Amino acid sequence: MKIAMIGTGYVGLVSGVCLSDFGHEVVCVDKDPRKIDMLLRGEVPIFEPGLDQLMAKNVAAGRLSFTQDLAAALDGADAVFIAVGTPTRRGDGHADLTYVTAAAEEIARTMTHYTVVVTKSTVPVGTNQMVADTIRRVRPDAEFDVASNPEFLREGAAIDDFMRPDRIVVGVTSDRARAVMGEIYRPLFLREFPILYTDLETAELIKYAANAFLATKITFINEIAQLCERVGANIKEVSRGMGLDGRIGNKFLHAGPGYGGSCFPKDTKALARMGQDHAVPMQIVETVIKVNDEVKRRMIDKVVDLCEGSVNGKTVAVLGVTFKPNTDDMRDAPALTIVPALVGAGAKVRVVDPQGKAEGEALLPGVHWADDAYKAAHNADCVVILTEWNEFRALDLAKLARKMTVARMADLRNIYNQADAAKAGFIAYTSVGR
Ligand code: NAD
Repeated sequence: MKIAMIGTGYVGLVSGVCLSDFGHEVVCVDKDPRKIDMLLRGEVPIFEPGLDQLMAKNVAAGRLSFTQDLAAALDGADAVFIAVGTPTRRGDGHADLTYVTAAAEEIARTMTHYTVVVTKSTVPVGTNQMVADTIRRVRPDAEFDVASNPEFLREGAAIDDFMRPDRIVVGVTSDRARAVMGEIYRPLFLREFPILYTDLETAELIKYAANAFLATKITFINEIAQLCERVGANIKEVSRGMGLDGRIGNKFLHAGPGYGGSCFPKDTKALARMGQDHAVPMQIVETVIKVNDEVKRRMIDKVVDLCEGSVNGKTVAVLGVTFKPNTDDMRDAPALTIVPALVGAGAKVRVVDPQGKAEGEALLPGVHWADDAYKAAHNADCVVILTEWNEFRALDLAKLARKMTVARMADLRNIYNQADAAKAGFIAYTSVGR
């Protein structure tokens, strides 16, 4: 199959690289010249483990290429994937479909033969129909079908998720489009990963329902964590006791500083708006959004309380600012709420992150970037663990404590425990739900 992939972000680039690894001929298109220049030089514009090698392998095999020229990418293509961003629209919480609409118009102007137009971006119900209407409006004679193929990969484990998905969801309205999609995913079908064919609206909603459910699970355990703190229970053991129940499962039950990232915040908001638009308020999801905001704010109070009521004039070392480990993505990271609040309260904040600096520097003004955790902690009054990078999982706590003026730790990912921290010389330690 010949495939064009519009958008070389976290989803488009990973999908393009993996589809080329299946043996398809893939041309990735982006309107950002900086990204395409990097890709043409063999550089990967994002941090995603393993992506550089897999990309180099498929470029060398002649199956994967990059261009800014959509017409060249669409030439002879069986399918074109739209994998552009759908951020929150300013002001109202809706998904902003500007990029999707623009891509649909560009496809319509450029296409020359029957092509399946596949939306991989996360889009509200009705968007695939809108894409079809847009193409028909711009090019009434165009021969095409639309397909909805939402993506479920997780940043940091994106290649494995794409290559070994729990399921592939494909919304289609014609046998012809179904056949093309079946051929594209045949290598996965042969390895018995389930492909769920459905209609467009169902495929669109599956993605939002899945993300909102996961965000709810995280928020639920964060709320239980708060109760644990009040009643003297231990959230780690509560999570384990719940998660061993096969009906519940142990994933997404880790208490922490609130969910963030490029998907959950915007997708929960978009689902809430969708519910309001259709007079079916998503009351659970609306509450999740509210509670998650409160969780993040509670983390600020935790740090301030640990510093005896004020961080003014104190030096706070923040370990990890990306929204989770193994990515450089800073979108809606809890750090973007917590760090500015500490700076605003008069703290001198030092930050360290294995991959977050390039993105984070502009987003976190007024902080000092350190090279490693020990340098960040030098003469500090408090260390805050915000992202559970492996680098921060096995710290020499005694060494860290010795570097500090006052050894205090806010372990917002529950990596360590009170006893170990005390033994290492920390005079104050706090975590989440314990
Ligand atoms: P991103 O912002 O990293 O990448 C989008 C890319 O599209 C950018 O490089 C941009 O320049 C390019 N682009 C926009 N309009 C274009 C056009 N008309 N022509 C060519 N290129 C264009 O976004 P992302 O994180 O990859 O997310 C893409 C979609 O996938 C979103 O809808 C998101 O919700 C969804 N999704 C993301 C993830 C994730 O973990 N990031 C997971 C599942 C689904």
